[in-house]
Amino acid sequence: MSDAETIYDVIIIGGGPAGFSAAQYASRAKLKTIILDKSSTAGALAYTGHIENYPGITAPMSGKELLDIFRRQAVGFGAEYVETQVVGVSLEGEVKEVFTMGKAYKGKAVIIATGSMGRKPTIKGEAEFLGRGVSYCAVCDAAFYKGRTVCVIGNSEEAVKEAGYLTRFAATVHLISPTPKLKVEEHPALGAANLKVVLGATVIGIEGGETVEKIRTSDQDKKESELSVDGVFVYLHGSKPVVDFLQGAVELTENECIEINRMMETPIPGVFAAGDVTCTEVRQVVTAASNGCVAALSAEKFIHHRSRRKSDWGK
Ligand SMILES: Cc1cc2nc3c(=O)[nH]c(=O)nc-3n(C[C@H](O)[C@H](O)[C@H](O)COP(=O)(O)OP(=O)(O)OC[C@H]3O[C@@H](n4cnc5c(N)ncnc54)[C@H](O)[C@@H]3O)c2cc1C
Repeated sequence: MSDAETIYDVIIIGGGPAGFSAAQYASRAKLKTIILDKSSTAGALAYTGHIENYPGITAPMSGKELLDIFRRQAVGFGAEYVETQVVGVSLEGEVKEVFTMGKAYKGKAVIIATGSMGRKPTIKGEAEFLGRGVSYCAVCDAAFYKGRTVCVIGNSEEAVKEAGYLTRFAATVHLISPTPKLKVEEHPALGAANLKVVLGATVIGIEGGETVEKIRTSDQDKKESELSVDGVFVYLHGSKPVVDFLQGAVELTENECIEINRMMETPIPGVFAAGDVTCTEVRQVVTAASNGCVAALSAEKFIHHRSRRKSDWGK
């Protein structure tokens, strides 16, 4: 179990094929390893309905099933898995820090494996009101909406979960699904008395003054309506590397991906990246897993090299 003083050998941000394969190699090499993963139901593999081209699978399975196997394997070798969203990092020092809402984790090496399901704003007003009522992080911003009205846009299990989280703070949460059905029809979050589900509606605009005041929606018959809300949480996915939590701590290319060398090293000593978050030409489970392996072995080399020269990581 971790406490504020624990210094991990490797902190892995993201629990997809890249993160879990890194965790498996790191923990099997006896490194003290933790995976911080926003959600076991988000990420590209979690969204994959059917996968049949990952080597070793003899019958098609869902992405979630394969992800469960990856997780069990990594945890089986001793890696700690914590479902939590990383919201910030401090990577320059010898001891790196990774921040979630409630806690800071310390480590000698960090592997970034957050994939590329990030979103470029596409709804009218989404970019304009980002940080002024529009958010992509319920756990970061829910407390600002105590007793107020918010909406969550999305139909995934992640959107349902986040809407459930918001019901603990907001007076009313509208879950607006662009499809006539949610991807999960049974979930404890759907039972909250202050959750209202709107199916088959597209949000076509976010409007307000200083901050968000309302959204405009269009139903399947193209009938438009308005809904007063104070906050809009967008859980629609795109295909942009997920790097927002880095806040400039790691240099990005103009495509906002992380440039790495053949050993998955970033320019910052002790910081590695793997999988779809990197500037890769091929985005597949097998390549992400292979990157994770290389990143973990590089991290191991980095730690053992460093510790021969300097043994006390705590200072
Ligand atoms: C619909 C679809 C179908 C696909 N089909 C196939 C296929 O058939 N075969 C194939 O090989 N590939 C397929 N792919 C591609 C494959 O899924 C990806 O290349 C692979 O999952 C990338 O792995 P990853 O670990 O880099 O990222 P991901 O799988 O995206 O995992 C990233 C993880 O990081 C977590 N994360 C994100 N932000 C944070 C944060 N701030 N803090 C903590 N954790 C965070 C996410 O929750 C997620 O668990 C498909 C992709 C999609 C979208």
